[in-house]
Amino acid sequence: MKTFKHIYKDAKNKIHGIAAAPGIVIGKVYLFTKEKLEISDGEVTNFEEAKRNLEEALKQSKKELTKVFSIAREKMDETRAAIFEAQMMILDDPILLKAFEERIEREKKQPEYVVFDEITKYQDIMRHSKEPYIKERAHDIDDIKNRIIRNLQKKRWQSKIAADAIVVSDMLTPADTLLLSRSNVKGFVTDHGGLTSHAAIISRSLNIPAVVGTHDITKHVKEDDTIIVDGFHGYVLINPTKEQTEFFTKKFQHLVELQKGLEEFKDKPALTKDGREILLYANVDVSGEIDIVVTSGASGIGLYRTEQILEELSEFPTEEEQVKIYSNLSSRIYPNTLTIRAFDIGGDKFKLLEIYEANPFLGLRGIRLLLENPTLFKTQIRAVLKASNNKNIRFMLPMVSTIMEIKRAKEIIEECKDELKKENHSFDKHFMIGIMVEVPAAAVMTKELSKEVDFLSIGTNDLIQYLMAVDRGNDLVSDLYQEFSPAVIRTIYHIITQAKESKKEISFCGEMAADTLAIPLLVGLGVTSLSMSPSTIPYAKRIIRYLNYAHTKQLAKDCLSCSTEVEVIHLIEKFFKEHSITRTRQII
Ligand code: PEP
Ligand code: MG
Repeated sequence: MKTFKHIYKDAKNKIHGIAAAPGIVIGKVYLFTKEKLEISDGEVTNFEEAKRNLEEALKQSKKELTKVFSIAREKMDETRAAIFEAQMMILDDPILLKAFEERIEREKKQPEYVVFDEITKYQDIMRHSKEPYIKERAHDIDDIKNRIIRNLQKKRWQSKIAADAIVVSDMLTPADTLLLSRSNVKGFVTDHGGLTSHAAIISRSLNIPAVVGTHDITKHVKEDDTIIVDGFHGYVLINPTKEQTEFFTKKFQHLVELQKGLEEFKDKPALTKDGREILLYANVDVSGEIDIVVTSGASGIGLYRTEQILEELSEFPTEEEQVKIYSNLSSRIYPNTLTIRAFDIGGDKFKLLEIYEANPFLGLRGIRLLLENPTLFKTQIRAVLKASNNKNIRFMLPMVSTIMEIKRAKEIIEECKDELKKENHSFDKHFMIGIMVEVPAAAVMTKELSKEVDFLSIGTNDLIQYLMAVDRGNDLVSDLYQEFSPAVIRTIYHIITQAKESKKEISFCGEMAADTLAIPLLVGLGVTSLSMSPSTIPYAKRIIRYLNYAHTKQLAKDCLSCSTEVEVIHLIEKFFKEHSITRTRQII
């Protein structure tokens, strides 16, 4: 049977972007373009008239935004709707309004030029901010700026379109996203914008699948083209083939079935029928995801990939900047746990140093790079410690392969604690330290490594790559990237058993945790805590609530004696059928 991997591997008509809001849709393109506003900087001869025009345009803009705000309050929760309230407040900002008037009088420039120039100045300051959140907000201000200018020019913009279209645009403002959603828009795709752009956040709130940041999709599609939007994996397929349409139609129908009643699981524990609780945590890549984490029913954050902060900022944040980011997350998730992973730099991730490595995945990556760069490592440790006063933060080391690496990291952590004590900074005295088990050497030595740490987390994304000697990003060998290989599952079992013998908490945070086909097997192998992308948590919860731990133990036992991946998959599929559990693997 074809999987997503096969479909995307062969697709020539695919465009990749950022998976901003989960879901799958097939529909016709509506190219949403806004007339580019020409701004005149001509001279003002009648100051009183210019001032009146400005007042009217501001009044009209406020009227429009009030309407947008009231729709937002109907459709979204208060915090989301507040985006528009904030825009309305800009219209009431006396300093800004005074600046407009003074400049029109002093410079004798047209109001539209002054509005453009004055607000652009604010935006430039925001764009240079180190906070990704503030940077993204600079885009949102475009909306208010263009709204006032359009009203000064007495133009109208279209906000209603044919129902059921997929809106494709270079960029969407929060108001566009909201107003367009009234026309039953099926999906959003944009050239620009990131996961934290408000258009993305609003799409998630409204449950409309979205892919953002495709760079140039508007150049590749025409009005009325058919496209498939996959908001789980961040792909768009343009004018899909018959095979692709059939594949995604089935997925879509399956998804509709699956989503029925998913909400009801949100506040229930992930408990098997015979009473074994599996804790479900969220993997977080960017802090903007925290909203989905909070609404997904997660028990906490099992993996916060801090190297993503570097991707977002393109530079190394200072200690204080990091303290702010970690404290903020810790408070948002409190009293649940936040597992902060030390920067996993290197491999195919953020490049810190311009060093040539023939095999970066086998090179200076994760803990190896951090130990080589103690200043950088210490900055992060100090920030994590300073943010730990809620007592819900724990710290995890990536790419560990030897005990010496853990011992050295712990020494550095102790040095940081001593420094902070001397500087009179408080921190959590029981700060927990854990490791990722993702290198085969660490898997083999789990028993010994366990003695050095408080907790362990299995990272199958890398574990499979290193165990099978197959680059996780290389399409040519992707058939060998087998999460159900007996070699992989026996290794997972070994890690779990050894960690448990040492009475250390063992969790699981590789993508395999989100593969619903893998869940019964992992539960049977003894996993009691899984961390996955937040949007997949309700699906995992539902599977677990259908399981019987005793049955999964037998399944695991049978799988452990298989000699090929095909046999393992066959056993699991049989298990799903025998126990009448809906199979959801290929959906997400
Ligand atoms: C892993 O390797 O399984 C993991 C969770 O880490 P990452 O995907 O960030 O390498
Ligand atoms: Mg990894």
